[in-house]
Amino acid sequence: MKCSKCSNEMVEGSVHIGGGVRTLFTGGINLGNLTFKAPQWKEHIVQETSDVWPAHYCDNCGAVTIETARRGLSTLES
Ligand SMILES: [Zn+2]
Repeated sequence: MKCSKCSNEMVEGSVHIGGGVRTLFTGGINLGNLTFKAPQWKEHIVQETSDVWPAHYCDNCGAVTIETARRGLSTLES
């Protein structure tokens, strides 16, 4: 997969939130969510702590493409 910013070949992998494998020690801690925000839209949760998504990383410019489950955006008015 080519990077949409710089056209470099991206590295295939996955993304998750946290420091590694969940254990009894980290299982009870909320590490937070990755959220996306645009001016006219409500905050959109891209990734919850427990989610693991397929992703591509560009080692040239640092861009990351994450393939998430579609949850849909909602506007501030709705
Ligand atoms: Zn790039």
